[in-house]
Amino acid sequence: MNPSKKVFDNILQAIGNTPLIRLNRVAQDIPCPVYAKVEYFNPGHSTKDRMALKMIEDAERDGRLKPGGTIIECTSGNTGMGLALAAAVKGYKLICTMNDKQSKEKMDILRAMGAEIYVCPTNVPPEHPDSYYSVARRLNQQIPNSFFPNQYDNLSNRQAHYETTGPEIWEQTEGKITHFVVGVGTGGTISGVAKYLKEKNPDIKIWGADTYGSVFKKYHETGIFDNNEIYSYITEGIGEDILPANVDFSLIDLFEKVTDRDGALLARELAKKEGLFLGYSAGSAFGVVRQLKHLLKPTDLVVVLFHDHGSRYVGKIYNDDWMRERGFLPQNNKVAKDFVDR
Ligand code: PMP
Repeated sequence: MNPSKKVFDNILQAIGNTPLIRLNRVAQDIPCPVYAKVEYFNPGHSTKDRMALKMIEDAERDGRLKPGGTIIECTSGNTGMGLALAAAVKGYKLICTMNDKQSKEKMDILRAMGAEIYVCPTNVPPEHPDSYYSVARRLNQQIPNSFFPNQYDNLSNRQAHYETTGPEIWEQTEGKITHFVVGVGTGGTISGVAKYLKEKNPDIKIWGADTYGSVFKKYHETGIFDNNEIYSYITEGIGEDILPANVDFSLIDLFEKVTDRDGALLARELAKKEGLFLGYSAGSAFGVVRQLKHLLKPTDLVVVLFHDHGSRYVGKIYNDDWMRERGFLPQNNKVAKDFVDR
């Protein structure tokens, strides 16, 4: 069948080639054009489909994953979804360990796709036996014929973005991109895209979105891994309390932290003003563009990558009560809205 006509042999061939969409109403105060690489057009509704497939195919090729095997991964949900697509098509069993702060929607969707879920406490250090890293590692040791992709340190992750996402962005902007902005978790997306773009044009600036409660920004600026930077936060998918091997700090020009509140409010604004129903980290990535707009000039061209779809956050950032409970919306909003509804 012919993938260029969008006729595919299986769902995995539909991964990638996502659209680049100009931001208009939300970007009026930004001095240059801003385009969004909208990764929810992938079949698993996130950019992580790309690296999940690459980790599986590389492991099949070198024998780490064998027919009938079990894939075990620690995931905030999106990698699990990409792995679930590959596991379904290729006939593997999938077990995901997840932090208890991840949305119920993400867990329900993974279960619907055939995965078994282990819910682990968020507020324990990575080396704690109950952390989602430790549980995944232990299951990998206990279950015969199992494969632990380990998206944090498996370099197939960033290679997927070097081979697909980076070239797509370069071609879609006809080489005119000057700034690439994206949220950083495992670091696969930013590092793979950055490597490709900087090989094409070393002047392209790479900006990473970090969270308050994560080590990246301080480590990048000082070389110090500061435990005082680590505390729990609400934003999902970005920021870390470890330094994953996939983050290539030498390719990143700066990290900018965006608050939990601003990330959530900006995701809501993107939905209402652009018709883009996006995940939490998309708001954070766009927050970086807003916060650093003074560094941009009219001849620049920014591409901001939006990782995933808003459906996984309907009970959270798109729920007014959830927003009010965290002080992200004013308490009296409901009264005002009820009044208007009447
Ligand atoms: N946003 C979301 C919603 C994610 O799931 C992830 C992956 N953890 C990221 C951003 C960060 O991407 P990466 O792991 O490639 O740095």
